[in-house]
Order: sequence, then structure tokens, then C-alpha cells
Amino acid sequence: MQILHISAECYPMAKAGGLADVVGALPKYLQQAGHTSGVVMPMHRTNYLYTHTWDTMHRGTIFLGEKSMDYTIIMQKSSELGFPLYCVDIFGLLDRDRIYGYEDDSFRFLAFQMAVLEWLMNWEKKPDVLHVHDHHTALIPFLSRHCSRYSLLNRIPIVLTIHNAQYQGQMGWEQAVLLPYWNPAARGLLDWNDCINPLAAGIKCADRVTTVSEGYLEELMGNANGLEGLIRNERFKCKGIINGIDSEVWNPATDLFIPFHYSLKEADKGKRLNKEKLCAELDLDAKLPLFCFIGRMVSDKSADLLPELMQKALHLFSEKMNFIILGSGHVDIENSFRNMAPSPHIRLEFGYKEAFSHLLYASSDFLLMPSRVEPCGLNQLYAMRYGTIPIVRKTGGLKDTVKDMGDAGGGTGITVYHASMEDLLQALHRSLQLFKEKEILSHLRKHIMSCDFSWQTKAEQYIDIYESVVN
Ligand code: ADP
Repeated sequence: MQILHISAECYPMAKAGGLADVVGALPKYLQQAGHTSGVVMPMHRTNYLYTHTWDTMHRGTIFLGEKSMDYTIIMQKSSELGFPLYCVDIFGLLDRDRIYGYEDDSFRFLAFQMAVLEWLMNWEKKPDVLHVHDHHTALIPFLSRHCSRYSLLNRIPIVLTIHNAQYQGQMGWEQAVLLPYWNPAARGLLDWNDCINPLAAGIKCADRVTTVSEGYLEELMGNANGLEGLIRNERFKCKGIINGIDSEVWNPATDLFIPFHYSLKEADKGKRLNKEKLCAELDLDAKLPLFCFIGRMVSDKSADLLPELMQKALHLFSEKMNFIILGSGHVDIENSFRNMAPSPHIRLEFGYKEAFSHLLYASSDFLLMPSRVEPCGLNQLYAMRYGTIPIVRKTGGLKDTVKDMGDAGGGTGITVYHASMEDLLQALHRSLQLFKEKEILSHLRKHIMSCDFSWQTKAEQYIDIYESVVN
């Protein structure tokens, strides 16, 4: 089969979160399984774009209402990613530094989707399946089925993956004039609560819908930012598939971002050396347990709890510990970190720092991830691959991937039920006790490093889904 992924992000070209990691890995594993798979995304002005070479593939024009806009499709020259990567450029719209966060985002992503469809109309042999991701590309099922302009595409099966249903891309009905002529009888497919809701339209019109974990699918039926009823209705075509990790990119034995490589056998030594170097650079005592947080500073990730948690833990417990926080996000949450009294045990790094995140996974003893909402979560999987014990809240994909140490059959981390100060302090207390038990710690480290979270088996599950819609 030939499967084309359509996405706002793809690692390493442009990444804001887990979506990029998934779209940057799954096509590679589909190719390895004998299928043809590529990715098309906006031509964000990232470092990767400027440091790689590209061929121009196609030029065309789209019409958004009265407005005509020229687009260009480029393709990466080298095959280093293991799959073809195409980017769409539209002057003034997609030529920006950041992926999201602009006032005209709905307009930008609508134009992106229309340019992709226009380009696909020119493909002689059409893809067997289109795989769209999140609301930025979720209008494609509606557009291709209900706009006469794209009638050549209306038989291509479409799979939609929901990475995060909090964001739905709603726009007012006045924007409907921007779409190419569509059958008015299909209005109900675009509508949700008197708005055009791209994610809802995608769920209604796609042939199959996947979520990034079983646990998240269950949760969405009760809480999906207004879409729970829709998801319950469409449950028959939904499936949860937990994300894999790209075990070539995330491998402590070869990771180019970390100074000391290690595999399972020398995990204790490898982690110790990385930790000592990082702690020396940040002026932290490497003998103390090291906790890290990596992620968006938003309430979904419970980042708002961390300043108080760290201060309370350092005040209450007789044992000391160090914390390194890496992230960026909500201004108020960032400020609550900035406003903490300076501490010899806390280091803060603001911004998006891919290389530093790898150092943290390799050097830390524990990863803090007490998310309130976590569709799948990749950090806990990377942490385990690097022998870092995850401390997570039992929700969504975290519940599916991390079992508590106290559970029968052996666990893979420390879990809490609530994103509350009490639960988290207790989890820190348990971590401090564990840290003193060097043999148990070492055993657990090796156990979590040997867990298989690779993409191979997950790619097979996607292939089953594609086969179910192609035949
Ligand atoms: P989400 O997509 O909700 O942000 P995930 O856990 O699915 O969360 O994926 C987060 C990805 O982004 C991981 O690869 C993580 O390492 C990375 N990441 C998040 N914040 C940062 C940051 N500030 N610097 C570097 N990497 C980050």
C-alpha cells in the first residue's frame, strides 16, 4: 500500500510535541514493513529546512473564496529520514518560524489542506490511504468527499489519528465561504455547536479513527472537550493504538546528544557518568537523586503544581534531592517558576531544547510526569528506554504504559491517582526510599530499559487498519 501522512509537524523538520515524533517515525516503520509511505507538511522556516536540500516538485494555485494563492511543493533530496518528506509553501502563510500560535492559524491550515488536495489531484497513481493527524488536517476527509472540485480523490480511504482532542480548530460559519463549493446537504458534517469544527468533521467523515492509546479512547467517551457524545456514536470505527518510540533516534547506546553511551549491561555506570557531567555543569550535587520534568508548561501536564511541590519537598523531607525543569508554555506557569526563591537544588531551563532533553533522559534518576491529561505521552517511554524511572499519574496513555512498582507482576514506575500535592509528595517520598535501595533501583532500571515500546508492533496495528479500509 501507499500511505501518505498529512500533518502540521514531523520530526526532525518541525516539532512542537509528540505529534512530530509519531509522524517522523511511523512512515519509516511502514516502509520497513514493505509499504510505501511519505509525509506532507507545511514548509515551516526551521533550521532543518535551511540545512537540507530540496527539489521543487509542483506548483499550483488554490482559491480561498475570492482570494487566489500560489503554492509550491518541495521534496527532500536525500533519503536520510527513511521516507520521502514533502513540504508545502504558501507565501505569507506557511513561511513562518513557529508551527502554531498565530491568529490566522485556522486560515493557514485550511490553505495547507487545500494545497495538499490540489496537488494530489495531479498525482497519476493516487495514494491508497491518506492518514491525517489532529484538527490541522482533519478537514481533509470532508473536503475530499463533499467538494466537487476534489471528486477525483473521493474514493481514497482516510484514517484520522487524534493525538489531542482538546484542540479542535473551531471556526465561525462565516469562514465557510473559504472552502471550495461543497454540497449544502453535508452541512451537518462540518457543524458542531454552531461552529465549523474540523476535528468533529474529521471524526464524522474519516473511514477509521485512531487515538494514541486505548486508555485515552475510553476517557474521550466521557471527556473530549465537548466531543464525547460524537466519539461514543462513532466508537465502532475507533481504535486506540499506543504510540511507539523511534528506537534508532532514542537509543542511549548511540544517542549523539549524550556524552556517555550505555546499554542495558552498563546502565548504572552510564547513567552515573552522564549525571555527574550534567550536575558538574549545573553546579548540582550528583550524589543526590535527580528528578526532571520535560514538557509543555500547561495545566494538562500539571506543570502548575511543580513550583510548590519542589519547594515543599525540599522543606519537608530530611533527604535532599535535585530538580531540573525543562519547558515552555503558559506565561503564568512560566512566571510561577521564575518567581520561586533561588535554590541550590533547582535548575530551570526555559524554551524548547531537543539536545538538552536527551541529556536529561540520560542523566536523571526520575522523570516527573503527573499529567492531568495525557493522550499517550512519549516522555515516559523515552525515560524508560534511558533507565529513568517515571513518576506518572494514572491517566490516558500513562495508565497504559506505566505500572506501579507495587503492582503484582512487577512495575515500571511510580504512579499516583490524583494530580494533588499529597499524592505527589508521597510519590517523591517513595522515590527517595527507592533511591537508597541501590540493588532494587538497578534492577528496576534494567527492567524498564528492556521493555519493548518500539514501533514495529504498533506499525502492524496501523497496517491492519489501512487494510481494513482499502479492501
Ligand atoms: P505533547 O505532545 O502533549 O507535548 P508528548 O509526551 O506526547 O507530549 O511528547 C512530548 C515530546 O516533546 C517529547 O519528545 C519530549 O521530549 C518533547 N519536549 C517537550 N517539551 C520539550 C522541551 N521544552 N524541550 C525539548 N523537548 C521537549
